[in-house]
Amino acid sequence: DWPIYGTIDGPIVMIGFGSIGRGVLPLLERHFRFDKDRFVVIAPDDRDRRLLDERGIRFIHQGLTRDNYRDLLSPLLTAGEGRGFCVNLSVDTGSVDILRLCRELGTLYIDTVIEPWPGFYYDRNADTAARTNYALRETLMAEKRARPGGPTAVSTCGANPGMVSWLVKQALLDIARDTGRPVEAPTDRAGWAALMRGLGVKGVHVAERDTQRSRMPKPDDTFVNTWSVDGLLSEGMQPAELGWGTHERWMPDKARRHAKSDAAAIYLLQPGADTRVRTWCPISGPQFGFLVTHNEAISISDYYSVHEDGALVYRPTCHYAYHPSNDAVLSLHELFGQAGQPQGKQHILSESEIVGGRDELGVLLYGHARNAYWYGSRLTIEEARTLAPYQNATGLQVTSAVMAGMVWALENPAAGIVEADEMDFARCLSIQRRYLGTIEGHYTDWTPLDGRPGFFPEDLDRDDPWQFRNILVR
Ligand code: NAD
Repeated sequence: DWPIYGTIDGPIVMIGFGSIGRGVLPLLERHFRFDKDRFVVIAPDDRDRRLLDERGIRFIHQGLTRDNYRDLLSPLLTAGEGRGFCVNLSVDTGSVDILRLCRELGTLYIDTVIEPWPGFYYDRNADTAARTNYALRETLMAEKRARPGGPTAVSTCGANPGMVSWLVKQALLDIARDTGRPVEAPTDRAGWAALMRGLGVKGVHVAERDTQRSRMPKPDDTFVNTWSVDGLLSEGMQPAELGWGTHERWMPDKARRHAKSDAAAIYLLQPGADTRVRTWCPISGPQFGFLVTHNEAISISDYYSVHEDGALVYRPTCHYAYHPSNDAVLSLHELFGQAGQPQGKQHILSESEIVGGRDELGVLLYGHARNAYWYGSRLTIEEARTLAPYQNATGLQVTSAVMAGMVWALENPAAGIVEADEMDFARCLSIQRRYLGTIEGHYTDWTPLDGRPGFFPEDLDRDDPWQFRNILVR
């Protein structure tokens, strides 16, 4: 007896049907009323078409391009009565262009990443700043400024970016409670930023450990991952990038600021998937993670910034610290060992071939009175299998966030362009919870100075453990 959260009374157009699209499908069927005859999936690869055929769902075997997307999508999104919903779960499509079209047509929109049209990620002529997520997010911000309000378009609402922004808010309330300063949830951005600042939070890691493993060892010359290989490759080859906090008093030589002086993020002149940071997750304790660029690193730092008299007085550092599955770590090692030349084959581990492990995805808020607090979802492959078909634990954390974001959009159809930070975190988490395994909070005394220096001299800031200088592996 699954709760029905709402009715999509117009057409549904799903773009992309890979590991995430496939996993969203059963959640849509469970939790929404809709007209199956007006449900269309568009993708250039038809690997999982069987799932659509057996349901009688229309499949258009074609890729969207900059030239065809308006002609292809417009009639589909406006077919029949009611308000349509565009669910963009693809790679290589221009999110901001598609979102703009949807809003022109009065349809709702959701995606999990600000995806550019092909050419952006691997443009050798572009300077490094132009290949950042900051640059991508600025295209969204420009659209938001140019056309405020209007039909709701939820940007970057997967697990991360997405759910982690909701987790940050609950974590802040937990820390406030546990440090003897309980508060009601703030109702606006200024209130949330003041809360984070007041608690003394210096920064946030999106700290993830994926221990899902298959019976088969990773074959040579194959990139193995638990979600989109193209997605991890493209973001992993982008520059490492992080929201840059006001407490930081050192910058790596390879760090660069953006031309716009109020930019919330900086970037490094090296790929994110080849940049390691020290972080902490419950399953592992201390661990290395990759500082892969992500939209939430910028949106969270931006959202929690405090300005006084026009001057920036507070901003948390924020970045991803991702320990992907061991096979993905090996795949990255292989990839960078061959100068970034992609392997000949790609493989996404399916729920049926994974023999154990979990995805532990949370936020580590550090620098406050209780040192550091990890709050997040710990979902095993066994739990994921019992909860929903066609996906592994990583997938379910993403697809359930998409589903929650869709519910929120239906309930708030005229909210304009929003990021997860701007949505009702409690409502969204309450919808998503049942799919997240256990949601746990853990305090830790660990800091990135623990056990250091070891046998070799190190350049450390001993006065403040939570400096990026101590976190970045050099
Ligand atoms: P995938 O690689 O398994 O599938 C991608 C899909 O996009 C495929 O169906 C492919 O055919 C389709 N596609 C490719 N080019 C297209 C085009 N021109 N037009 C239409 N469709 C096209 O990827 P996935 O694991 O399903 O991930 C989907 C998206 O979600 C990716 O952009 C990924 O980065 C993103 N993602 C976000 C999160 C998050 O937490 N925010 C997590 C996982 C994935």
